Amino acid sequence: MSLSEKYIEEGEKNLLHTYNRFKIVLDHGDGVYLTDVDGKKYLDFAAGIAVFALGYNDKEYNDAIKAQIDKIIHTSNLYYNVPAVEAAKELCSVSGMDRVFFTNSGTEAIEGAIKSALKYAYTKAPAEDYEIIAMEHSFHGRSMGALSVTGNSHYREAFGTGIGHIRFAKYNDLQSVKELVNEKTCAIIMETVQGEGGIYPADPAFLKGVRELCDEKDILLILDEIQCGMGRTGSMFAFEEYGIKPDIMTTAKALGCGVPVGAFLMTERVAEKSLVPGDHGSTYGGNPFACAAVLEVLRQFREKDITGHVKDLTPYLEEKLDELKEKFPVVKERRGKGFMQALELNIPAGEIVTKAQEEGALIITAGSNVLRLVPPLIIEKEHIDSLVGILTKILQKC
Ligand SMILES: *Cc1c(COP(=O)(O)O)cnc(C)c1O
Repeated sequence: MSLSEKYIEEGEKNLLHTYNRFKIVLDHGDGVYLTDVDGKKYLDFAAGIAVFALGYNDKEYNDAIKAQIDKIIHTSNLYYNVPAVEAAKELCSVSGMDRVFFTNSGTEAIEGAIKSALKYAYTKAPAEDYEIIAMEHSFHGRSMGALSVTGNSHYREAFGTGIGHIRFAKYNDLQSVKELVNEKTCAIIMETVQGEGGIYPADPAFLKGVRELCDEKDILLILDEIQCGMGRTGSMFAFEEYGIKPDIMTTAKALGCGVPVGAFLMTERVAEKSLVPGDHGSTYGGNPFACAAVLEVLRQFREKDITGHVKDLTPYLEEKLDELKEKFPVVKERRGKGFMQALELNIPAGEIVTKAQEEGALIITAGSNVLRLVPPLIIEKEHIDSLVGILTKILQKC
């Protein structure tokens, strides 16, 4: 029995069976490579689901969080702490937003965003039946509020009606959004680039149209940048590429590059009429350990010009993926933005993922027939060549 098999067997006895995990037990990482407990090495184009943007075992990152561990890990929000103060300033600065609340995950950032929008509407005119428009095929997380705005009935089935007062429009169909707007609509929530739903970027005309609609009717635009933000599309946040700004936004995944942290942010205009002391809180949220990670991540983005690197290398990645589409009829389409790319296939994507693992590469899916590539943002041409080589070998036999 291999070490992997031993841990898998043991794990299956105690872990709640909520994931159909791959038969891999990862042990350590370096740069864009991961190694399992049996010593098998993998080129990583999954980054822990778009999390590990700066690569594994980065010395400066590790040193920064170790230094914070030696100082203080947790204080509670009854007091101020220096990393939170500094991370808040930096995050507002890079996002163009005015106020931030740190959470422990993406789904909690969505909860906060929803509560902020409801409170804003309530302050303007107290009522209990405000509506939110969300998008079909969206994904916003697994807690009850986030689940309620997730446009995939498969995830919602068996969990009741959720928070209610949610209507679903068609993504990239402005008319379908307009048809759902009424005097009770307080917010429209969407991913700037849909992730789990299959990697669909918003059409510029659609996002601009929704922004105008929101301005006209004082509806808040909530953009979920949990997956597509933090440099993944080549801009710090994907909305920048559309020349618009949300009223409320969420981030998580790459924000801490592995330390669990998320955030929701808003403009001052929203903050003035939204959450006040007593409305929201979190024991861990924004603790010094998590915020030290955020600060270090943002420092590296700045000093290493991570977004510039993504922008520079995107044409190469797209060209190589387009070549796969030209060569292999099973590849139906390539789409995406920056280092958030998809290959839609005519065959189940899961089979390709398993074969790639055998060949020493980690990739993930986004829906049953879509391969999702969300590598660490520090990949170079050689890593793209290597992955494309592996995919070529696999697709040749399909
Ligand atoms: C991953 C994800 C979430 C949920 O984040 P968690 O940290 O898993 O709770 C929400 N929205 C989007 C777009 C995501 O990709």
